[in-house]
Amino acid sequence: EVRLNGVEKAYGDVKVLHDIKLDIQNREFVVFVGPSGCGKSTLLRSIAGLEDITQGQISIGGRDVTYLEPADRGVAMVFQSYALYPHMTVYDNIAFGLKMAKKPKAEIDRQVQNAARILQLEPLLQRKPKALSGGQRQRVAIGRAIVHEPEVFLFDEPLSNLDASLRVQMRVEIAKLHADLKATMIYVTHDQVEAMTLADKIVVLNKGRIEQVGSPLELYRHPRNRFVAGFIGSPQ
Ligand code: ATP
Ligand code: MG
Repeated sequence: EVRLNGVEKAYGDVKVLHDIKLDIQNREFVVFVGPSGCGKSTLLRSIAGLEDITQGQISIGGRDVTYLEPADRGVAMVFQSYALYPHMTVYDNIAFGLKMAKKPKAEIDRQVQNAARILQLEPLLQRKPKALSGGQRQRVAIGRAIVHEPEVFLFDEPLSNLDASLRVQMRVEIAKLHADLKATMIYVTHDQVEAMTLADKIVVLNKGRIEQVGSPLELYRHPRNRFVAGFIGSPQ
């Protein structure tokens, strides 16, 4: 599981995360929501190890990872901007991290083929990113995470650059991926429908603090305050 114990993050004198305490169970799908600037990406990046936290501990699978490098944490992150290498094929984009880690070629090939099968990218492996649709590019970005077989997937608004119909399609695919891979997923979104349909548990953040945590139904039925109600769309 992922355990955040009193996590604080400050940039200089400015605290952007305050005393975050949260337990995420294995295989849980957890969605962070909250207004722009409330700290969602910072919290995700802190779990990934892309930010150093200024107080508290982070553990993953019972291991204290607070001071570990991103590559040693058992997590993989999927970003909003797909950050694919334009000059490389889909295959090489997916394989990139494994090549950097100097994995054997046969192992790399096995992982890339497996990711391509799961994401239905097999016919596209020799294409360059510019010859792909937005949804296909997003799938390549997810493929780059899958090949590392992480315990925990971190998604930062992965669908926000897609048009509405593709967003719906990819939302269904992410739900399927969660069911298939049986991994823990932590997912940031501005989209209420994504939050309500994907989440086992929603974490509502406000100004760097946790406002409320609960299942979609719990938050819908019993929002603690107007702020939560506004985010969940419940009639309060
Ligand atoms: P959005 O929904 O717009 O993506 P967010 O909830 O992801 O917002 P963060 O990106 O986590 O918000 O930012 C939280 C706060 O930290 C913001 O006030 C932001 O300005 C500040 N912040 C983020 N990165 C830095 C940085 N490198 N230096 C200083 N302040 C930063
Ligand atoms: Mg953000």
